[in-house]
Amino acid sequence: MLKKSILEAKLNGKRVVVRADFNVSIDEGVIKDDTRIRETVPTLKYLLSQNCSLILLSHLGRPKGIDAKYSLKPVAKRLEGYLKQKVSLINQFASGNNRPLELLPKQVVMLENVRFYPGEEKNDLKYARKLAGYGDIFVNDAFAAAHRAHSSTVGIARFLPAYAGLLLVKEINVIHKVLNNADRPVVSVVGGAKISDKIGLIKKQLDLSQTVLVGGGIANTFLKAMNRNVQNSLVENEVLKKARELLFEAASKHSALILPFDFVIKNKEGKVLTAILSQLPNEAAIMDIGPKSRKLFKDYLLGAGTIIFNGPMGKYEEKPFDEGTKDLIKAASESKALSVIGGGDTLACIGSKKIAEGITHISTGGGAMLEFIEKGTLPAIEVLQ
Ligand code: ADP
Ligand code: MG
Repeated sequence: MLKKSILEAKLNGKRVVVRADFNVSIDEGVIKDDTRIRETVPTLKYLLSQNCSLILLSHLGRPKGIDAKYSLKPVAKRLEGYLKQKVSLINQFASGNNRPLELLPKQVVMLENVRFYPGEEKNDLKYARKLAGYGDIFVNDAFAAAHRAHSSTVGIARFLPAYAGLLLVKEINVIHKVLNNADRPVVSVVGGAKISDKIGLIKKQLDLSQTVLVGGGIANTFLKAMNRNVQNSLVENEVLKKARELLFEAASKHSALILPFDFVIKNKEGKVLTAILSQLPNEAAIMDIGPKSRKLFKDYLLGAGTIIFNGPMGKYEEKPFDEGTKDLIKAASESKALSVIGGGDTLACIGSKKIAEGITHISTGGGAMLEFIEKGTLPAIEVLQ
Protein backbone atom coordinates (compact mmCIF):
# COMPACT_ATOMS: atom_id res chain seq x y z
CA MET A 1 0.00 0.00 0.00
CA LEU A 2 2.61 2.53 1.01
CA LYS A 3 4.27 3.72 -2.15
CA LYS A 4 7.73 5.03 -3.00
CA SER A 5 7.82 8.77 -2.88
CA ILE A 6 10.07 11.23 -4.67
CA LEU A 7 12.16 11.33 -1.49
CA GLU A 8 13.29 7.78 -2.32
CA ALA A 9 13.89 8.35 -6.03
CA LYS A 10 17.22 9.10 -7.69
CA LEU A 11 16.37 12.40 -9.24
CA ASN A 12 19.46 14.34 -9.96
CA GLY A 13 19.03 16.24 -13.21
CA LYS A 14 16.28 13.96 -14.52
CA ARG A 15 13.40 15.06 -16.72
CA VAL A 16 10.34 14.50 -14.58
CA VAL A 17 6.81 14.25 -15.92
CA VAL A 18 4.60 15.45 -13.05
CA ARG A 19 0.84 14.80 -13.04
CA ALA A 20 -0.75 17.43 -10.85
CA ASP A 21 -4.39 18.26 -10.30
CA PHE A 22 -4.68 21.89 -11.34
CA ASN A 23 -8.41 21.50 -11.91
CA VAL A 24 -9.38 24.78 -10.25
CA SER A 25 -12.54 26.72 -10.98
CA ILE A 26 -11.89 29.64 -13.30
CA ASP A 27 -14.34 32.47 -13.88
CA GLU A 28 -13.68 34.64 -16.96
CA GLY A 29 -9.98 33.83 -16.84
CA VAL A 30 -9.70 34.47 -13.08
CA ILE A 31 -8.86 31.60 -10.71
CA LYS A 32 -11.32 31.51 -7.81
CA ASP A 33 -9.54 29.19 -5.36
CA ASP A 34 -5.98 28.08 -6.02
CA THR A 35 -5.59 25.64 -3.11
CA ARG A 36 -4.84 22.76 -5.46
CA ILE A 37 -2.07 24.74 -7.15
CA ARG A 38 -0.53 25.88 -3.87
CA GLU A 39 -0.61 22.38 -2.39
CA THR A 40 1.51 21.08 -5.29
CA VAL A 41 4.25 23.69 -4.91
CA PRO A 42 6.33 21.78 -2.29
CA THR A 43 6.65 18.80 -4.65
CA LEU A 44 7.68 21.03 -7.55
CA LYS A 45 10.19 22.96 -5.44
CA TYR A 46 11.71 19.74 -4.15
CA LEU A 47 12.14 18.39 -7.68
CA LEU A 48 13.70 21.67 -8.78
CA SER A 49 16.09 21.56 -5.82
CA GLN A 50 17.29 18.25 -7.29
CA ASN A 51 18.12 19.97 -10.59
CA CYS A 52 15.28 18.26 -12.41
CA SER A 53 13.50 19.74 -15.37
CA LEU A 54 9.72 19.48 -15.09
CA ILE A 55 7.03 18.64 -17.61
CA LEU A 56 3.70 19.30 -15.88
CA LEU A 57 0.45 17.56 -16.80
CA SER A 58 -3.07 18.34 -15.62
CA HIS A 59 -6.65 18.33 -16.76
CA LEU A 60 -9.01 21.26 -16.34
CA GLY A 61 -12.77 20.80 -16.46
CA ARG A 62 -14.46 18.55 -18.98
CA PRO A 63 -13.61 19.90 -22.44
CA LYS A 64 -14.82 18.11 -25.56
CA GLY A 65 -11.76 18.56 -27.73
CA ILE A 66 -9.46 21.57 -27.84
CA ASP A 67 -11.26 24.54 -26.29
CA ALA A 68 -9.61 27.80 -25.18
CA LYS A 69 -12.14 28.06 -22.36
CA TYR A 70 -10.39 25.15 -20.66
CA SER A 71 -6.83 26.31 -21.26
CA LEU A 72 -4.31 25.91 -18.44
CA LYS A 73 -2.89 29.35 -19.26
CA PRO A 74 -4.14 31.04 -16.05
CA VAL A 75 -2.76 28.11 -14.04
CA ALA A 76 0.69 28.43 -15.65
CA LYS A 77 0.65 32.16 -14.85
CA ARG A 78 -0.32 31.57 -11.23
CA LEU A 79 2.34 28.93 -10.85
CA GLU A 80 4.99 31.29 -12.19
CA GLY A 81 4.21 33.50 -9.19
CA TYR A 82 4.70 30.65 -6.71
CA LEU A 83 7.84 29.24 -8.34
CA LYS A 84 9.27 32.65 -9.24
CA GLN A 85 10.25 31.41 -12.66
CA LYS A 86 8.93 30.98 -16.17
CA VAL A 87 6.38 28.20 -16.80
CA SER A 88 5.89 27.82 -20.57
CA LEU A 89 2.69 26.33 -21.86
CA ILE A 90 3.08 23.81 -24.70
CA ASN A 91 0.19 23.54 -27.17
CA GLN A 92 -0.48 20.79 -29.69
CA PHE A 93 1.82 18.40 -27.88
CA ALA A 94 -0.07 15.31 -28.95
CA SER A 95 -0.22 15.89 -32.68
CA GLY A 96 2.33 14.76 -35.24
CA ASN A 97 5.63 13.20 -34.28
CA ASN A 98 6.90 15.84 -31.90
CA ARG A 99 10.32 15.30 -30.38
CA PRO A 100 11.24 15.29 -26.73
CA LEU A 101 11.60 18.86 -25.55
CA GLU A 102 15.11 20.19 -25.09
CA LEU A 103 15.00 21.24 -21.46
CA LEU A 104 17.66 22.77 -19.25
CA PRO A 105 17.96 21.68 -15.61
CA LYS A 106 15.32 23.47 -13.49
CA GLN A 107 13.32 24.49 -16.54
CA VAL A 108 9.54 24.10 -16.14
CA VAL A 109 7.02 23.55 -18.93
CA MET A 110 3.35 22.68 -18.76
CA LEU A 111 1.55 20.71 -21.45
CA GLU A 112 -1.92 22.03 -22.29
CA ASN A 113 -4.99 20.37 -20.77
CA VAL A 114 -4.47 16.61 -21.17
CA ARG A 115 -8.22 16.21 -21.78
CA PHE A 116 -8.00 18.17 -25.04
CA TYR A 117 -7.28 14.76 -26.60
CA PRO A 118 -9.74 11.86 -26.50
CA GLY A 119 -7.03 9.34 -25.55
CA GLU A 120 -6.80 10.70 -22.03
CA GLU A 121 -10.09 9.53 -20.57
CA LYS A 122 -9.93 6.22 -22.45
CA ASN A 123 -6.60 5.45 -20.80
CA ASP A 124 -5.31 5.00 -24.35
CA LEU A 125 -1.81 3.53 -24.16
CA LYS A 126 -0.56 5.25 -27.31
CA TYR A 127 -1.45 8.58 -25.76
CA ALA A 128 0.07 7.53 -22.45
CA ARG A 129 3.29 6.56 -24.24
CA LYS A 130 3.38 9.97 -25.88
CA LEU A 131 3.07 11.72 -22.51
CA ALA A 132 5.69 9.42 -21.01
CA GLY A 133 8.04 10.21 -23.90
CA TYR A 134 8.69 13.68 -22.47
CA GLY A 135 10.52 12.44 -19.39
CA ASP A 136 12.74 9.93 -17.59
CA ILE A 137 10.51 9.37 -14.59
CA PHE A 138 6.87 9.96 -13.66
CA VAL A 139 5.66 11.60 -10.49
CA ASN A 140 2.00 11.63 -9.56
CA ASP A 141 0.86 14.32 -7.16
CA ALA A 142 -2.73 14.49 -8.39
CA PHE A 143 -4.66 12.98 -5.49
CA ALA A 144 -7.91 14.60 -6.60
CA ALA A 145 -7.69 12.72 -9.92
CA ALA A 146 -6.37 9.44 -8.50
CA HIS A 147 -9.76 7.71 -8.72
CA ARG A 148 -9.71 8.12 -12.51
CA ALA A 149 -7.94 5.49 -14.60
CA HIS A 150 -6.78 7.80 -17.37
CA SER A 151 -3.66 7.95 -19.57
CA SER A 152 -1.97 10.65 -17.50
CA THR A 153 -2.75 8.99 -14.15
CA VAL A 154 -2.60 5.23 -14.81
CA GLY A 155 -1.47 4.35 -18.36
CA ILE A 156 1.67 6.47 -18.19
CA ALA A 157 3.06 4.45 -15.27
CA ARG A 158 3.60 1.49 -17.62
CA PHE A 159 6.29 3.39 -19.45
CA LEU A 160 8.26 5.15 -16.70
CA PRO A 161 9.40 4.51 -13.12
CA ALA A 162 6.51 6.03 -11.15
CA TYR A 163 6.69 7.76 -7.77
CA ALA A 164 4.29 9.56 -5.47
CA GLY A 165 4.65 13.33 -4.98
CA LEU A 166 4.61 14.89 -1.52
CA LEU A 167 0.94 15.90 -1.62
CA LEU A 168 -0.13 12.44 -2.71
CA VAL A 169 1.95 10.91 0.11
CA LYS A 170 0.34 13.25 2.63
CA GLU A 171 -3.17 12.32 1.45
CA ILE A 172 -2.38 8.59 1.42
CA ASN A 173 -0.81 8.59 4.87
CA VAL A 174 -3.63 10.37 6.67
CA ILE A 175 -6.36 8.21 5.14
CA HIS A 176 -4.27 5.13 5.74
CA LYS A 177 -4.11 6.04 9.41
CA VAL A 178 -7.87 6.61 9.54
CA LEU A 179 -8.58 3.26 7.88
CA ASN A 180 -6.09 1.10 9.74
CA ASN A 181 -5.07 2.68 12.98
CA ALA A 182 -7.65 5.27 13.99
CA ASP A 183 -7.94 6.52 17.56
CA ARG A 184 -11.39 5.77 18.97
CA PRO A 185 -14.07 6.83 19.12
CA VAL A 186 -14.26 7.40 15.40
CA VAL A 187 -17.01 9.91 14.58
CA SER A 188 -18.07 10.35 10.96
CA VAL A 189 -20.16 13.22 9.68
CA VAL A 190 -21.98 12.74 6.42
CA GLY A 191 -24.12 15.31 4.69
CA GLY A 192 -24.98 16.61 1.26
CA ALA A 193 -27.89 16.15 -1.03
CA LYS A 194 -28.08 12.50 -1.99
CA ILE A 195 -27.73 9.10 -0.35
CA SER A 196 -27.34 7.53 -3.78
CA ASP A 197 -23.99 9.35 -4.25
CA LYS A 198 -22.71 8.02 -0.97
CA ILE A 199 -24.12 4.55 -0.26
CA GLY A 200 -20.66 2.96 -0.41
CA LEU A 201 -19.21 5.67 1.81
CA ILE A 202 -21.96 5.41 4.41
CA LYS A 203 -21.53 1.62 4.62
CA LYS A 204 -17.81 2.05 5.10
CA GLN A 205 -18.35 4.76 7.70
CA LEU A 206 -20.64 2.40 9.61
CA ASP A 207 -17.78 -0.13 9.64
CA LEU A 208 -15.15 2.36 10.68
CA SER A 209 -17.02 4.52 13.16
CA GLN A 210 -18.65 4.24 16.52
CA THR A 211 -20.93 7.13 15.57
CA VAL A 212 -22.16 8.42 12.22
CA LEU A 213 -23.76 11.86 12.39
CA VAL A 214 -26.04 12.55 9.45
CA GLY A 215 -27.27 15.87 8.10
CA GLY A 216 -28.36 17.55 4.87
CA GLY A 217 -30.75 16.06 2.36
CA ILE A 218 -29.39 12.64 3.30
CA ALA A 219 -30.87 12.96 6.79
CA ASN A 220 -34.26 13.92 5.30
CA THR A 221 -34.29 10.73 3.27
CA PHE A 222 -33.42 8.61 6.31
CA LEU A 223 -36.19 10.31 8.30
CA LYS A 224 -38.73 9.68 5.57
CA ALA A 225 -37.55 6.06 5.40
CA MET A 226 -38.53 5.87 9.10
CA ASN A 227 -42.00 7.12 8.13
CA ARG A 228 -41.47 10.58 9.53
CA ASN A 229 -43.16 13.43 7.72
CA VAL A 230 -40.53 15.84 6.42
CA GLN A 231 -43.06 17.93 4.50
CA ASN A 232 -41.59 19.61 1.41
CA SER A 233 -37.94 18.95 2.26
CA LEU A 234 -35.48 17.61 -0.28
CA VAL A 235 -35.90 13.82 -0.25
CA GLU A 236 -34.59 11.14 -2.54
CA ASN A 237 -37.67 8.98 -2.93
CA GLU A 238 -35.97 6.44 -5.21
CA VAL A 239 -33.70 5.18 -2.44
CA LEU A 240 -36.05 4.88 0.55
CA LYS A 241 -35.66 1.12 0.54
CA LYS A 242 -31.88 1.42 0.42
CA ALA A 243 -32.05 3.91 3.28
CA ARG A 244 -34.00 1.39 5.38
CA GLU A 245 -31.36 -1.24 4.65
CA LEU A 246 -28.62 1.13 5.80
CA LEU A 247 -30.52 1.85 9.03
CA PHE A 248 -30.84 -1.88 9.58
CA GLU A 249 -27.15 -2.37 8.88
CA ALA A 250 -26.24 0.36 11.34
CA ALA A 251 -28.34 -1.25 14.05
CA SER A 252 -26.69 -4.62 13.49
CA LYS A 253 -23.17 -3.20 13.60
CA HIS A 254 -23.12 -1.46 16.98
CA SER A 255 -22.48 1.74 15.12
CA ALA A 256 -24.91 4.51 15.97
CA LEU A 257 -26.37 6.39 13.03
CA ILE A 258 -27.63 9.62 14.53
CA LEU A 259 -30.16 11.82 12.81
CA PRO A 260 -30.97 15.45 13.58
CA PHE A 261 -34.21 16.08 15.46
CA ASP A 262 -34.62 19.83 15.09
CA PHE A 263 -34.12 22.02 12.06
CA VAL A 264 -33.81 25.44 10.54
CA ILE A 265 -36.66 25.50 8.06
CA LYS A 266 -38.37 27.66 5.51
CA ASN A 267 -42.13 27.75 5.97
CA LYS A 268 -44.73 27.96 3.22
CA GLU A 269 -44.34 31.75 3.06
CA GLY A 270 -40.55 31.48 2.84
CA LYS A 271 -39.96 32.62 6.42
CA VAL A 272 -36.94 31.17 8.24
CA LEU A 273 -37.81 29.44 11.53
CA THR A 274 -36.59 26.64 13.77
CA ALA A 275 -38.78 23.64 14.49
CA ILE A 276 -38.53 20.18 15.98
CA LEU A 277 -39.23 17.20 13.75
CA SER A 278 -42.73 16.47 15.10
CA GLN A 279 -43.80 20.08 14.66
CA LEU A 280 -42.72 20.91 11.13
CA PRO A 281 -45.38 23.24 9.70
CA ASN A 282 -47.29 22.06 6.62
CA GLU A 283 -45.31 22.53 3.40
CA ALA A 284 -42.15 23.56 5.28
CA ALA A 285 -38.72 22.64 3.92
CA ILE A 286 -35.76 21.60 6.05
CA MET A 287 -32.79 23.80 5.16
CA ASP A 288 -30.24 23.08 7.92
CA ILE A 289 -29.84 21.19 11.18
CA GLY A 290 -31.27 23.02 14.20
CA PRO A 291 -29.56 24.32 17.36
CA LYS A 292 -30.32 21.29 19.58
CA SER A 293 -29.01 18.85 16.99
CA ARG A 294 -25.90 20.98 16.52
CA LYS A 295 -25.27 20.85 20.25
CA LEU A 296 -25.56 17.06 20.29
CA PHE A 297 -23.37 16.62 17.20
CA LYS A 298 -20.74 18.99 18.59
CA ASP A 299 -20.55 16.98 21.83
CA TYR A 300 -19.75 13.89 19.80
CA LEU A 301 -17.09 15.74 17.82
CA LEU A 302 -15.44 17.20 20.89
CA GLY A 303 -15.18 13.71 22.40
CA ALA A 304 -13.89 12.04 19.24
CA GLY A 305 -10.50 10.42 18.68
CA THR A 306 -10.88 10.58 14.91
CA ILE A 307 -13.25 12.61 12.74
CA ILE A 308 -14.12 11.98 9.08
CA PHE A 309 -16.23 14.83 7.68
CA ASN A 310 -17.91 14.95 4.28
CA GLY A 311 -20.91 16.87 3.06
CA PRO A 312 -22.73 20.00 4.22
CA MET A 313 -25.48 19.81 6.85
CA GLY A 314 -27.74 22.18 4.96
CA LYS A 315 -28.35 24.15 1.78
CA TYR A 316 -25.23 26.17 2.54
CA GLU A 317 -25.31 28.19 -0.71
CA GLU A 318 -28.18 30.21 0.79
CA LYS A 319 -27.47 32.17 3.99
CA PRO A 320 -28.03 31.45 6.88
CA PHE A 321 -28.22 27.75 6.00
CA ASP A 322 -24.43 27.45 6.03
CA GLU A 323 -24.30 27.87 9.79
CA GLY A 324 -24.91 24.26 10.86
CA THR A 325 -22.00 23.02 8.77
CA LYS A 326 -19.71 25.83 9.92
CA ASP A 327 -20.57 25.19 13.58
CA LEU A 328 -19.63 21.54 13.25
CA ILE A 329 -16.42 22.34 11.37
CA LYS A 330 -15.50 24.71 14.18
CA ALA A 331 -16.12 21.95 16.74
CA ALA A 332 -14.05 19.47 14.71
CA SER A 333 -11.34 22.13 14.58
CA GLU A 334 -11.38 22.59 18.36
CA SER A 335 -11.48 18.88 19.08
CA LYS A 336 -8.23 17.05 19.86
CA ALA A 337 -9.17 14.39 17.32
CA LEU A 338 -7.32 13.66 14.12
CA SER A 339 -9.74 15.24 11.67
CA VAL A 340 -10.08 14.79 7.93
CA ILE A 341 -12.41 16.88 5.78
CA GLY A 342 -13.20 16.50 2.10
CA GLY A 343 -15.80 17.24 -0.54
CA GLY A 344 -16.14 20.01 -3.09
CA ASP A 345 -19.23 21.53 -1.51
CA THR A 346 -17.97 21.00 2.03
CA LEU A 347 -14.85 23.06 1.28
CA ALA A 348 -16.88 25.68 -0.61
CA CYS A 349 -19.07 26.05 2.49
CA ILE A 350 -16.08 26.56 4.78
CA GLY A 351 -14.87 29.30 2.43
CA SER A 352 -12.48 31.35 4.52
CA LYS A 353 -10.26 28.66 5.98
CA LYS A 354 -10.08 30.41 9.38
CA ILE A 355 -12.70 28.25 11.06
CA ALA A 356 -10.92 25.13 9.85
CA GLU A 357 -7.47 26.03 11.18
CA GLY A 358 -7.42 23.19 13.70
CA ILE A 359 -8.43 20.52 11.18
CA THR A 360 -5.63 17.97 10.75
CA HIS A 361 -6.11 17.40 7.05
CA ILE A 362 -8.22 19.17 4.44
CA SER A 363 -8.20 16.84 1.47
CA THR A 364 -7.74 18.25 -2.04
CA GLY A 365 -9.85 15.37 -3.36
CA GLY A 366 -13.64 15.22 -3.12
CA GLY A 367 -14.65 12.12 -5.06
CA ALA A 368 -11.14 10.72 -4.71
CA MET A 369 -11.21 10.94 -0.92
CA LEU A 370 -14.61 9.27 -0.69
CA GLU A 371 -13.58 6.46 -3.00
CA PHE A 372 -10.26 6.03 -1.18
CA ILE A 373 -12.03 5.68 2.17
CA GLU A 374 -14.55 3.29 0.67
CA LYS A 375 -12.14 1.04 -1.24
CA GLY A 376 -8.87 1.49 0.61
CA THR A 377 -6.97 2.22 -2.59
CA LEU A 378 -7.28 4.08 -5.90
CA PRO A 379 -6.28 3.12 -9.46
CA ALA A 380 -3.59 5.81 -9.83
CA ILE A 381 -2.04 4.83 -6.49
CA GLU A 382 -1.98 1.13 -7.35
CA VAL A 383 0.33 1.68 -10.33
CA LEU A 384 3.05 3.52 -8.40
CA GLN A 385 6.26 1.72 -7.36
P1 ADP B 1 -19.76 17.39 -1.16
O1 ADP B 1 -19.46 18.00 -2.52
O2 ADP B 1 -19.11 18.16 -0.04
O3 ADP B 1 -19.48 15.91 -1.11
P2 ADP B 1 -22.55 17.02 -1.87
O4 ADP B 1 -22.23 17.34 -3.30
O5 ADP B 1 -22.87 15.62 -1.53
O6 ADP B 1 -21.35 17.54 -0.93
O7 ADP B 1 -23.81 17.88 -1.39
C1 ADP B 1 -23.86 19.25 -1.48
C2 ADP B 1 -25.24 19.74 -1.79
O8 ADP B 1 -26.20 19.31 -0.84
C3 ADP B 1 -25.30 21.24 -1.78
O9 ADP B 1 -25.66 21.71 -3.07
C4 ADP B 1 -26.37 21.58 -0.75
O10 ADP B 1 -27.18 22.67 -1.12
C5 ADP B 1 -27.19 20.32 -0.72
N1 ADP B 1 -27.99 20.20 0.50
C6 ADP B 1 -27.58 19.85 1.73
N2 ADP B 1 -28.59 19.88 2.62
C7 ADP B 1 -29.70 20.28 1.95
C8 ADP B 1 -31.08 20.52 2.29
N3 ADP B 1 -31.52 20.35 3.54
N4 ADP B 1 -31.90 20.90 1.32
C9 ADP B 1 -31.46 21.09 0.06
N5 ADP B 1 -30.20 20.90 -0.33
C10 ADP B 1 -29.31 20.49 0.58
MG1 MG C 1 -20.56 18.12 -4.35
